[in-house]
Amino acid sequence: MAQPAETVRLAEAVEGPDLGLVRDLFREYQQAIGVDLCFQGFEAELAALPGAYARPAGRLLLAWRGEALAGFMPRLDACASCGAALAEGRPVRFDPSHGGLLCVACEPLGGGGLPSLSPDTVAALLRLQRGGLAAAASEPLSPPAGRESREALTRFVEQLLGRRLASRKFLDEVGPLLAPE
Ligand SMILES: [Zn+2]
Repeated sequence: MAQPAETVRLAEAVEGPDLGLVRDLFREYQQAIGVDLCFQGFEAELAALPGAYARPAGRLLLAWRGEALAGFMPRLDACASCGAALAEGRPVRFDPSHGGLLCVACEPLGGGGLPSLSPDTVAALLRLQRGGLAAAASEPLSPPAGRESREALTRFVEQLLGRRLASRKFLDEVGPLLAPE
């Protein structure tokens, strides 16, 4: 088992210093993708946080390892591109560059090489987001859901950090909880 200091904890970022950390992560993300996002109102979005990410439509979750920030979670409760509701009962595409799941209208033709998540996997990841890693440990994912989750989250973290090796370390710690042997 991991030592307590290695435990990953998810906490909602609602105000003050936590939102400052979210701004730092978003700026790192912009640098990592090497695209100037000002055309999307990026600075205005940062200033207005939590803005569109506020409840009830969204949530900003920070992942902590010990007292260190590990990253933030993808959007799984609505389309990460347009905010529309997701189709129920059919696989949905996970788009790391938009930071979450896509609705049918935003999905690229033929899937665009994006990972596809089954309804079971989406439900399992939402449980994980709401209940933290304790939920994954007490209610393990099925092997297929674990595999799909791992691929989607790997691509998400790689996109976010832009550094394959650093992100692998995070996933090596989280991975066993997603797909226990
Ligand atoms: Zn959409």
